[in-house]
Amino acid sequence: MNIADIKMDNRKRIYSYLREQGQATKQEIAYHLQLSLPTVTQNLTYLSELGLISCENKVVNRAGGRNPVAYSYIPDARVAIGLDITRHHIKSIVIDLDGQIIKYVYRRKDYQRNDDYLKILAGEVENIIAMAGLEREKILGVGIAVPGLIDRTGEYVYDGRVIDNDGMTRAEFAKYMNLKTKLIHDSAAAGFSEIIRSPDIHNACYVSLGSSIGGSVFIHDKAYLGDGLFSCEFGHLNLVPDGLPCYCGQKGCFDPYCNSEVLSNQANGDLFTFFDRLNNGDEKLRKIWDTYLDHLATLITEIRMMFGSSIIIGGDIGSFIDKYMPQLQAKIDKKSPFSEKSARFLYPCRNKMEAIASGAALHFVQEFLDTALETTD
Ligand SMILES: [Zn+2]
Repeated sequence: MNIADIKMDNRKRIYSYLREQGQATKQEIAYHLQLSLPTVTQNLTYLSELGLISCENKVVNRAGGRNPVAYSYIPDARVAIGLDITRHHIKSIVIDLDGQIIKYVYRRKDYQRNDDYLKILAGEVENIIAMAGLEREKILGVGIAVPGLIDRTGEYVYDGRVIDNDGMTRAEFAKYMNLKTKLIHDSAAAGFSEIIRSPDIHNACYVSLGSSIGGSVFIHDKAYLGDGLFSCEFGHLNLVPDGLPCYCGQKGCFDPYCNSEVLSNQANGDLFTFFDRLNNGDEKLRKIWDTYLDHLATLITEIRMMFGSSIIIGGDIGSFIDKYMPQLQAKIDKKSPFSEKSARFLYPCRNKMEAIASGAALHFVQEFLDTALETTD
């Protein structure tokens, strides 16, 4: 490491230490990180000027001497907004630098490809800013998550058949938003929000079971995109040769067998109603659910054979799956060519309702934490 790298490393270590401890004195930081007091002082001044930490005379000195100054980490020194756009709703979220949710708003609104809808999107952003009482200069940006594959540049929807957003640009979505924006594939956002909150998992496939099936893959905590942007499109692996038609134009993909509408369509389009009736012993729904789990077990087994990684079940179904994990695991274990127990690698998602929106916002937080301290002085 050269001198600039060492300085940067020191700054990051001091900030990380304060994030972990919440509060510490200059002397404690110097002692625990084995740094000189002038180095610690210089960096604390820098972090204070960025507004990332505060200092107060808070620590009680029982010996009766002068109270040392304590420096505190400020979780909401910066915040990020996330939007989850789907066919029938807009979810907005505000998170702090720890990824904690400050505000979450759900709105039922059908997606439309027109200017009025773009104004509504910007309105949702302004609404949540007002509701959370955010200071504008603290907002890192708005992560806009949409169904559809996003081009490597992050500037447009490369394949957007699910909600007719094919070819739409980041600038279009952000047309009425006066903030920094990023356009993000919804499954990638959801997977990111899971992996970042799972310190024990470093290699994982996130399977999003929503009205369409998507996914994302993380290798050593980093998203793997593949060369053609199609990696993790688990929904289009083939389940039944010449089977049910899929929206992609092929037949027999997993999607028409394992998307959430297979279930919600049995209950007036409402998944809550489906699981409610299932839990109340509806025999017809029990059979449909059993068949659904058979298909899902096949999908999970194939993903496990390809990646050998942890697998996280997310999306709409991930919100309901906890209770049925033993049933699903039993089906998967029967299919395992290596007699392994799926409980070792299969997990229900942690974020039940807001994974996509928070994952979209987390991209800004991660970028901030990676780069904000890198300004040379
Ligand atoms: Zn397909």
